[in-house]
Amino acid sequence: MAQVHNWQLGREMNYPYTAAFPERQFAFVFNTNRCIACQSCTMACKSTWTFSKGQEHMWWANVETKPYGGYPMFWDMKILELLERANPEGQRWSGKPSSDPQAPYGRFEGRTIFEAERMLTPDSARILGYLPTDEEWNSPNIYEDNPVGERGKPFQWHKAGVELPEHKTWFFYLARICNHCTYPACLAACPRKAIYKRPEDGIVLIDQRECRGYRKCVEACPYKKSMYRGNTRISEKCVACYPRIEGKDPESGGRPWQTRCMAACIGQIRLQGLVKVNPDGTWAEDRQHPLYYLVHVAKVALPLYPQLGTVPNGYYIPPRWVPRPYLRQMFGPGVDQALERYEKPDRELTAVLQLFNRAREIVYRYGIVEGPKVYEGTLRGRRVTLYNDTVIAYGKDGEELFRTSVEEPVYVRPAKHANSI
Ligand code: SF4
Ligand code: SF4
Repeated sequence: MAQVHNWQLGREMNYPYTAAFPERQFAFVFNTNRCIACQSCTMACKSTWTFSKGQEHMWWANVETKPYGGYPMFWDMKILELLERANPEGQRWSGKPSSDPQAPYGRFEGRTIFEAERMLTPDSARILGYLPTDEEWNSPNIYEDNPVGERGKPFQWHKAGVELPEHKTWFFYLARICNHCTYPACLAACPRKAIYKRPEDGIVLIDQRECRGYRKCVEACPYKKSMYRGNTRISEKCVACYPRIEGKDPESGGRPWQTRCMAACIGQIRLQGLVKVNPDGTWAEDRQHPLYYLVHVAKVALPLYPQLGTVPNGYYIPPRWVPRPYLRQMFGPGVDQALERYEKPDRELTAVLQLFNRAREIVYRYGIVEGPKVYEGTLRGRRVTLYNDTVIAYGKDGEELFRTSVEEPVYVRPAKHANSI
């Protein structure tokens, strides 16, 4: 095992290979507060990549209802339980979230999936994991819209409890794709070395000619985003729509486009980009990059289960109404600070939040033009002032892609008839 730096955990970590980082890294931010579970993303991916025989159970992009839903069923509870068994009571964070880019969320004192395996499987396994059963892959949207009610009383909802900051009866939608991790467990587990991370954009791919279907990647990926195809006996996974990222979509005019799941998102919860990476794997400072701003400046977007250790490149703005202990387990110690900022956004954050999925092109930089004050009032006891600022998105070569304002324009159609459309 090599020692690598895991900035999300604020410490060095064991990993089967020495660290190697891409020039830029495929990354994304999902705003869970906006997802309506329409599944447009899920179907956009399905109809592009996994519509063939043998791929019926494959949902590279999925949206599950938390806390009960999961695809495959209970994937997160199962890996968290394995880690807890390997390191009872030890899965803890120390320190506090800070401005240190080497340890922005404090320090994780527990064991990652790369560090816990020997305690459970001393003989062979390099990485802690498990193979889901066939039944667990059967129902991609099980427990849809099932809320948590009163503890220990099934089907009873709290009569009170719809007040922020926490709802007593709650659920939320978690949209997921492969995280194209910085330290991919799938890659580390493959005995054929059939999985690789592209040096230009960090996208993690399985070489279909090299794979022999041992399913070690399926077992090791803690997010269960590598999947086995029975009729070809080869594993497959999300390819991050790499032809679109490369600007090879026939309609793109050579411009890098966001993935299909991002571009299809009706709720405008998704923003995808390619972030610059330092030689030590941390994100290079890029102040006007929207993802850098959301993750490292505003700090409203947090990694999904950072304690697993793979440095996932998917970041989430947590749902505002969900009990904090659940959110801290899922997104780490940065949750309280992230929600504080998201609930009281300053002018810049309000403007950047308008960039989500306004165009198919990938945004590399943003600028803001200040506009007039359009609202002043009180919301839950605090003063709120809104400005109609304009945010401008720029592409790879510095060209303007689009501009959008905080206040959405309203068009009133002239009514020719009572029911005129
Ligand atoms: S999410 Fe899983 S399949 Fe995707 S890169 Fe990470 S370990 Fe590999
Ligand atoms: S398309 Fe967007 S809003 Fe609809 S389910 Fe997917 S992530 Fe949620």
